[in-house]
Amino acid sequence: MDSLSLLSNKELELRLKDLVQKERKLLHVILEHIREIDVRRLYLEKAYSSIYEYLTKELGYSGSAAMRRLEAARLLREVPQVADRIQEGSLNLSQIGELSRAIKEKEKVSGVKVSVLQKQELVDQVSGLTAGETQKEVTRVLDLPVKEFDTKKVQQDESVRLGITLSKEQYEKLLQCKDLAAHILLQDSGSVSLTDVIEFLADQYLDKKFKPGKKKKESVNLNTVAEESKDSRDAIVTTDAVVERKSVTTKLRRMVLQRDKCCQYVDLKTGRKCKSSFALQVDHKTSKWAGGVNSLANLQLLCSQHNREKYKKELNVRYR
Ligand SMILES: [Zn+2]
Repeated sequence: MDSLSLLSNKELELRLKDLVQKERKLLHVILEHIREIDVRRLYLEKAYSSIYEYLTKELGYSGSAAMRRLEAARLLREVPQVADRIQEGSLNLSQIGELSRAIKEKEKVSGVKVSVLQKQELVDQVSGLTAGETQKEVTRVLDLPVKEFDTKKVQQDESVRLGITLSKEQYEKLLQCKDLAAHILLQDSGSVSLTDVIEFLADQYLDKKFKPGKKKKESVNLNTVAEESKDSRDAIVTTDAVVERKSVTTKLRRMVLQRDKCCQYVDLKTGRKCKSSFALQVDHKTSKWAGGVNSLANLQLLCSQHNREKYKKELNVRYR
């Protein structure tokens, strides 16, 4: 490669502009790949419990870089024009982050989904703006409540804006929860805010405290292994699953928990183990319908994502 110091100013600048153009083109292609991996849920068979975990651990993106690309990839799926905007340089990842957050807030406040058409219009409206201008513009267009820095303020829609001061330790604990729960919270939307994390933690506590009979959605507590949701299942299989569950004694469950501690799903090609400690479920390695028994050797812990994946594959085998 020739030395850059030999280039004229004009040549140097031309080259840089050309490279930046290629970089934008490449970003678009990367986003399309992330989107396809997300759609195929390919990360599951690679023993990751979420696309976020895959992007950070397998591809080495930082948490925020992964989140921004994921938000952009998901917006790209709904609004294909995003690709052109990225390539021409009028829309960048931080603007898309602002857009995604605002759209999510609007949907939460109003309880109504923001339409694809509205999203297209928003993309047009913020193209060419800075991140700060983008934030102002989407707040205005979506008519989001203006936030003031009061200690406690009840807003128009009865939401409350709090200004609280956390100690360094408290804040770090909250961030740790955010990182750990990101794969659960990310299932519904592209981004995770601290309010999501606080709500998630509060739900966990309240569920445990007041609804002992109710089936838990996701649980972070190792002592309460989340019961499987039967919603997405075939009726016949559901009956079997209930019988299976009842027949594994609490004592046996506790032994499996103590032994495994985390998701035991392994990608046979790479040897990678998922090790997620969220929403753990006790699984029969060999299912009961295939002759598997309730023994410690035949039981293992799986996270809900991998348990569901394994279940889907078994359904194919069983009813083929
Ligand atoms: Zn897992």
